[in-house]
Amino acid sequence: MSQDKFIERHVGPGEGDLAQMLSVIGTKSVDELIAQVVPAAIRLKKPLALPREGMSEHEFAARIRQIGRKNKLYRSLIGMGYYGTATPAAIVRNVFENPAWYTSYTPYQAEISQGRLEALLNFQTAVVSMTGMEVSNCSLLDEATAAAEAMLMMFALRSRDAVREGRNVLFVDENIFPQTLDLLLTRSEPFGIEIVTDDFSSYAFSGREFGAIVQYPAANGEVRDYDDFAAAAHSRGVLVTAAADILALALLVPPGEWGADIVVGSTQRFGIPMGFGGPHAAYLATKDAYKRHMPGRIIGVSVDRLGNKALRMALQMREQHIKRERATSNICTAQALLASMAGFFAVYHGAEGIRRIALNAHSHAVAVASALEKLGYELTTKNFFDTIEVVADAEKIRVLALERQINFYYADESRVRIAFDELSSTDEANAVIGIFARAAGKKAPVLKKIDERDDDLPASLRRRTPYLTESVFRKYRSETDLMRYIKKLEHRDISLADSMISLGSCTMKLNPAVTMMPLSLSEFADIHPFVPAEQAEGYMEMIDELSSDLAVITGFSAVSLQPNSGATGEYSGLMVIRAYYQSRGQGYRNVALIPASAHGTNPASAAMAGMKTVTVACDERGNIDIDDLRAKAEQHASELCCIMVTYPSTHGVFESRIREIVDIVHDNGGQVYMDGANMNAQVGLTNPGYIGADVCHLNLHKTFAIPHGGGGPGVGPICVAAHLAEFLPGHSVVRTGGANGITSVAAAPFGSASILPITYGYIKMLGESGLRRATEMAIVNANYMASALRGEYEVVYTGETGRVGHEMILDLRHFRKEFGVECADIARRLMDYGFHAPTLSFPVHETLMVEPTESEPKAELDRFMQALVQIKRECEEIRDGQADAEDNVVKMAPHTAGEACADAWSHPYGREKAVFPLRWVRENKFFPYVTKIDGGYGDRNLCCTCGSLSEE
Ligand SMILES: *Cc1c(COP(=O)(O)O)cnc(C)c1O
Repeated sequence: MSQDKFIERHVGPGEGDLAQMLSVIGTKSVDELIAQVVPAAIRLKKPLALPREGMSEHEFAARIRQIGRKNKLYRSLIGMGYYGTATPAAIVRNVFENPAWYTSYTPYQAEISQGRLEALLNFQTAVVSMTGMEVSNCSLLDEATAAAEAMLMMFALRSRDAVREGRNVLFVDENIFPQTLDLLLTRSEPFGIEIVTDDFSSYAFSGREFGAIVQYPAANGEVRDYDDFAAAAHSRGVLVTAAADILALALLVPPGEWGADIVVGSTQRFGIPMGFGGPHAAYLATKDAYKRHMPGRIIGVSVDRLGNKALRMALQMREQHIKRERATSNICTAQALLASMAGFFAVYHGAEGIRRIALNAHSHAVAVASALEKLGYELTTKNFFDTIEVVADAEKIRVLALERQINFYYADESRVRIAFDELSSTDEANAVIGIFARAAGKKAPVLKKIDERDDDLPASLRRRTPYLTESVFRKYRSETDLMRYIKKLEHRDISLADSMISLGSCTMKLNPAVTMMPLSLSEFADIHPFVPAEQAEGYMEMIDELSSDLAVITGFSAVSLQPNSGATGEYSGLMVIRAYYQSRGQGYRNVALIPASAHGTNPASAAMAGMKTVTVACDERGNIDIDDLRAKAEQHASELCCIMVTYPSTHGVFESRIREIVDIVHDNGGQVYMDGANMNAQVGLTNPGYIGADVCHLNLHKTFAIPHGGGGPGVGPICVAAHLAEFLPGHSVVRTGGANGITSVAAAPFGSASILPITYGYIKMLGESGLRRATEMAIVNANYMASALRGEYEVVYTGETGRVGHEMILDLRHFRKEFGVECADIARRLMDYGFHAPTLSFPVHETLMVEPTESEPKAELDRFMQALVQIKRECEEIRDGQADAEDNVVKMAPHTAGEACADAWSHPYGREKAVFPLRWVRENKFFPYVTKIDGGYGDRNLCCTCGSLSEE
């Protein structure tokens, strides 16, 4: 049977297009072009050791279902940060499975991102409301990471006196999730932060603490009153972070009311499947006074050119691109899609629904607790929300529970924890009671219907203040209403479902539909990350196969899938290098060489790993200045730790002297860290291992087809050479990682495991030949654009043969002088043509970095280039006096439907020119919902909740 080939569907240009494109480029064949682009010295001599031909879409679908069946769908009442939840089907279908939501980019271009910005604002509003705090960011990677970010925030907020006194102790209550403690250990060490774990109720502050972290409710389920503790901490100048279960806050006094300075946690149980550990959105909320120290992104309210309310990302000046090693954190990709979903969950359920869900979990815990006490069991939890801890023979209970296909958490041999949730039912409660009755050799009482109640909680712990009172949380109760609200927001955004998103360095390629489908299967979605290994055999099989495929592709020997973003991958790779040196008695090596052109996360990650960054200059061709590199490597040889190098460079060029760069660093005792963001130009042609690097991270959400989700999820695995394998990160609950592995870098053992089927499928369906072909076509598409634009837009940097790699930087540096137009104006004018702008002013100011990827068809590349050329014509009209210097189509862009259709029109140019600048724009017109946004206004009047959006 002849099978439909995935590669034919994945790559945009067809055979006929390719011939035309090559003739524009001026090469006879793809091979000839590739030979001009990729230096011969680093070209692989043999094909990757993967099956040559890929599976068909249909074969992959069958294979992944077969893998899924090897995961056992037991009911997990394990808790510990991961709970059963019911994702409303309306959210699954309209958001999670909807390419308009999952393929969009981080909302840097705010005017065409108002939909997801509102969804994220809803998330922030829900978090602020539930926690009782004043501001929230719009997601972090997971709860443990959020706790680590809170630790560093409290460290940065130390008073001058505290810094002078050298206060460096973080108090962590011992009743905290083990995965959170583990990550705190990882992240504290490079800063010289000392972690003291003890019982909060008897702890006496020593005067050396700067911060404290407590879990609420505690890991064993107990709800403690932290009032006095917080007061004592504050009186000693110590800040307090609560790691809080957001659902519990529907019933419990929120941390903002008992004095917490920062609140972090996971929003997984707001409708996000457990997914064997992730992805889920974590949150971090704090007081207004600390907002400038917050990590991650914050959505704020501002105004547009016409005075309409408009959303955009606020306080960008804190970010790594501007602050580099002095940034508040290295976080870039976060969990936008999951945050949007959690926000919609709150919108759909509202305060009553969230309270009902919380009461369901709580009431089942109460009912089971009292039944178990009647059976003679002792509970160590007295006041609890949804989790109880029972003194029992853990082994006996485990065996009986497995018979009933139920998982509990076994804290030790005599303590069993049971966590109830949204899905708990009377039958389930009776099953649990039955297990304990059998273990005790007693007859199980049978509960009838369990009533919802919270009157057993002491009044001092019970929440009195209302939450989710904003109108958005009251308006959308029917599915029809919710569906239309989601659709309304969707219409305000540009995603890959509309047009190409040519963001350089971001690789916005096709996210194949068939690879998304397994994510909705229970066999992948509903697995707790801490289930016994034999219940996750499917996951482990896929993880092993994927790890070995990625090792082959990168030329390395071992892989960790734990890091859940590219920046976390960078950090993890550096920490692995650090552990390697420590094991050799060279822990003093702490200098990281970083080229001036590096992505902002590189220096930020190096700083977080405790390294000193030394910047290496680039020459006039954009390549690393070899002389400067040698000088700095030699100067710092005794303490050289590594170089962080992106390849091909962020300038889009395959530096031919990359091997020399590697050798210089190795000769001076350092390791080579390769930032794999540009792996889309390497796969199948060369690889970091072959080039001689020691470790790289990959952005599976770039090169390997995981969608960007409007700013996450991501997966940033690290791949390492043999000598580093033993240091790969471990986990406190599930065995993984190297024999001498560093402590964990994410909350879950395999990070965002549930989205791994996407990359798994991408690789399986392409096979060796398809992977190579995809890379070649990415290079063809980029060079076609660079050649076709010549004379209109010039490329800033090219390789020695005048070619670009898989992306190019278009020079607009003369636009300001010649036309009085800024690069950002061009970006906004592109919106009137229906396009998302390329990467703006990175890594060179006043440029556009264009990365078409292999998935874009020639016709789309042509349309995009026509738009760019037409915009240049519009700029020339300004220069030539045919258009007003200020009031022109470019500087007034984008134009909304409201403005274009208004009775009054004040611009000197026509409406048609404004909104239909080229004929084909009419066929698929996208109207931005707002026009040019005033970012400064929003930063000066920072408002990060939706109370201030018009309440229509
Ligand atoms: C995207 C990118 C990163 C950061 O990756 P995230 O997944 O967003 O954290 C790092 N380096 C380069 C060159 C990138 O393009």
